[in-house]
Amino acid sequence: MIQPTPDDSRNALQTLFDWIAQSEHWVDEDSLNLYAGTNRQSPAVQRAMASTLNARPSLGPPGDKYETGLAFSDLIEEWVEHQLCTLLGARRVEYRVLSGSLANLYAYMATTKPGDTIYALPEALAGHATHHTQGAAGLYGLRVQPIPYHPGTHCIEWTTWEDEIRHIRPTLIILGTSLPLIPVDIGRARALADMVGARVMYDAAHVAGLVAAGLFQQPLAEGADLMTMSTYKTFGGPAGGLVATGDEELAQRLDRIAYPGLTANFDMARVAGLGVAALELATFGQSYAQQCLKNAQRLADELLRLGVPVWAPNGGPPTRSHLVAIDAARFGGGTHAARLAEASNVLFSGIPLPMAVIAGDYNGIRLGVHEMTRLGMGESDMAVVATFVKRALTQPDRAEATRAEVREFRQDFHTVQFGFAE
Ligand SMILES: *Cc1c(COP(=O)(O)O)cnc(C)c1O
Repeated sequence: MIQPTPDDSRNALQTLFDWIAQSEHWVDEDSLNLYAGTNRQSPAVQRAMASTLNARPSLGPPGDKYETGLAFSDLIEEWVEHQLCTLLGARRVEYRVLSGSLANLYAYMATTKPGDTIYALPEALAGHATHHTQGAAGLYGLRVQPIPYHPGTHCIEWTTWEDEIRHIRPTLIILGTSLPLIPVDIGRARALADMVGARVMYDAAHVAGLVAAGLFQQPLAEGADLMTMSTYKTFGGPAGGLVATGDEELAQRLDRIAYPGLTANFDMARVAGLGVAALELATFGQSYAQQCLKNAQRLADELLRLGVPVWAPNGGPPTRSHLVAIDAARFGGGTHAARLAEASNVLFSGIPLPMAVIAGDYNGIRLGVHEMTRLGMGESDMAVVATFVKRALTQPDRAEATRAEVREFRQDFHTVQFGFAE
């Protein structure tokens, strides 16, 4: 290998930092970011994450660490778990989890054995890959049975399921999807689970911030044994995941899965940032989440008014969460539409809907309003957002003009609300 000169390396580094700055500029400042699986963090969360705690390994439970010099880390860790348990109404929250996908694996390890059968919502309803054979569930050796649903809607076929479940005898039922437009009847699934001695898990990856604010639904109170989530979508914290439970036995199993099981040392700066995000949700979460719901409803109404085919999950209102779905058939598929709209600086993604399949692409488009809400947009701004979404979808040839107008519109929305300054 030829050793680079310090000048060469400084140039290479400059390129890297340029890319970082350009990405921040484009995505954070100049775009209408309606991608559901993302958010902006407050300066206080960023401050915690940028601390040198991120290079101070920490092995074992607070108060009984392998390393010395961690007295303040211990205090931080206990503070964070207290914030999370209070916020989520949980007895125990496992916070050392690096992603939502791993949180699901932790939950499977705590409730099932390889070879067991579990139930999950099918991919046509946006059930997540980690609930299925190609993801964590399959890698761990679980067999996955799709929860029966009524075609064309997000409605579960409860009586069919009840007949089936007695024969299938699952050990775990997973609820929650990547398109949670309406709450699911967790209590009813709990009753089915009790018939066969199964556990119930709710994957709150997308709605975590709403759940934390006491809105949408309250999975643990409604009967879920476990709730998993991503901590950087509506939750607004660092990239990562967590598992919450009200069950003492599961809490102890999760603790052993986390340590000494799957985590040795972990990033205490990320954990501190997670605690800040939890405190922000406890303090400002209700107004944040309520504004998200109002904005999503308004965005759906405005899109419909403009003739954009907004999809409604069960023949009722199009959304009761922060998400809006669009039938992508007219736009050549969800991912195709998202890639075209990127040139207009309007960001979103494709998503499966329970309808006719489009070969090689998703048949739906998913929009999330939470990031724009966090940057201060209200309902009247959603009328403008709707016109940009429509233009990005229907006039890709005018992307340059749209992009300039989007950038102009975004100038008024640069400060993260519902959070703390440094
Ligand atoms: C995003 C998502 C996950 C995965 O979370 P990561 O943090 O990306 O690993 C899990 N479940 C659902 C339903 C999701 O939408």
